[in-house]
Amino acid sequence: MNKVINKIIHNVQNTTVDKTCINFYNIIMNDVIVAVCTPMLKSALCVIRVSGEGTEKITRQLFGELEPRRVYYKNLVTEKITDSVVAVFFRAPASFTGDDTLEITCHGNPLIANAIVEHVYKLGARPAQNGEFTRRAYLNGKTDLTGAEAIKDIIDADTEKGVNLAYSASEGALFNKIREIQENLRDLIAQTEVAIDYPEEELEEFTQNQLQTKLVEIKSQCENLKNSYESGKIIKEGVKVAIIGKPNAGKSSLLNRLVGEETAIVTEIEGTTRDVVRGKYIHRGICFLVADTAGLRDAEDTVEKIGVRKSKEEAEESDLVVYLRERGDDFEQFINKISVKKRVIVVKNKSDVECDEDAEINVSALTGKNIDALKDKICEACVKGVDAEVMLTNRRQYDCMCECESNLKNALQNLGCITLDCISSDLELGYNALGKITGLIGSDEIIDSIFRNFCVGK
Ligand code: GDP
Repeated sequence: MNKVINKIIHNVQNTTVDKTCINFYNIIMNDVIVAVCTPMLKSALCVIRVSGEGTEKITRQLFGELEPRRVYYKNLVTEKITDSVVAVFFRAPASFTGDDTLEITCHGNPLIANAIVEHVYKLGARPAQNGEFTRRAYLNGKTDLTGAEAIKDIIDADTEKGVNLAYSASEGALFNKIREIQENLRDLIAQTEVAIDYPEEELEEFTQNQLQTKLVEIKSQCENLKNSYESGKIIKEGVKVAIIGKPNAGKSSLLNRLVGEETAIVTEIEGTTRDVVRGKYIHRGICFLVADTAGLRDAEDTVEKIGVRKSKEEAEESDLVVYLRERGDDFEQFINKISVKKRVIVVKNKSDVECDEDAEINVSALTGKNIDALKDKICEACVKGVDAEVMLTNRRQYDCMCECESNLKNALQNLGCITLDCISSDLELGYNALGKITGLIGSDEIIDSIFRNFCVGK
């Protein structure tokens, strides 16, 4: 029986290799690409990367024979400039891209970098497109899609937590989790297929109850991962906080105090803030994106009216609203007015002058009183479960996970009502949806859209 199951596992694995991936791989040329990987600014050093078939020949033309993975200090002579550089040659497949790769570290002057790149063009390379190095790494099997996306996240991260989460994804934490779920699902599909194809074997041990129990287990693994997106998104994109309240409540002062710099203009004149002013601060490793909005009042002037509308929209789009309550404010009316179902923290500002016992917290933007406590409160209100090591961090991964979950849900609902082969087909659809996350099942379109967002040189 084990032989039968193994054979079916083999079939399941083979059917999940997406043809589009193979076609895509074939049409990508393995020509030599070159790009500057560091910002084009004056700096101590600058890194230029060359990769593809033919890199070894270019390396020889530039520096003579280089032993792979050894660091060389060389003079690089081009038509326009000569610079002393450090060069390392990596022979395929032991390189970032999986192709032959040369890394040149020159002095950080854009003039030098451009001259070297132009020189390498003349030796047969072409400019790399956005994300083309990482795309090749993916196509050469050096990383999966979650790892490739994580590399971009490492570069884009605004917080240490963001860097650490992206780092563990780049090391395969998310990939391994997805594969673990896929393997469980694959075993289940195999057992279902056995029951369909070999009914005479009378698989007593594989009852419908067992199928149900295992399916519930796998579905809950998917749900946990799907729910991690909320935290992953917070770590990656930060928490949006809108400060709302009447004119002169101290919204601009609070924004300045929270972000620790003069971002918004503070005056005694009502209606000074007409457009949304933004700032950000980091607290407990999370980035908070704060918006100071126009005061909520029945504005007469057209520009101010637009400002008031914008502040309502801002509250709508934020993750949390900080409402600066003034004496005599009708909180209920405010909630109805902005019609948001967001978590609202009711704050009394100017507590250096007077306090309000009905507010959740009394602060003073002027003196800084209770500002850290307010930051804690904001953080506790919307940041939960951000210490997990594996999380989904983008919409694409989340959508694929939802697709998988919905297929598993269908399978579970239909258990006992329809034939096993329909159940098996739902399970396979779920398996494939997971494969889209790692890119083991993918379409050109998805892959293109991922790498298009990378910078050149990555
Ligand atoms: P906004 O219209 O809600 O943005 O309010 P502003 O930040 O422009 O502040 C309006 C006025 O209140 C200014 O004169 C501020 O100096 C003053 N103000 C802001 N926060 C405090 C505070 O905590 N205590 C006191 N005493 N005055 C404050």
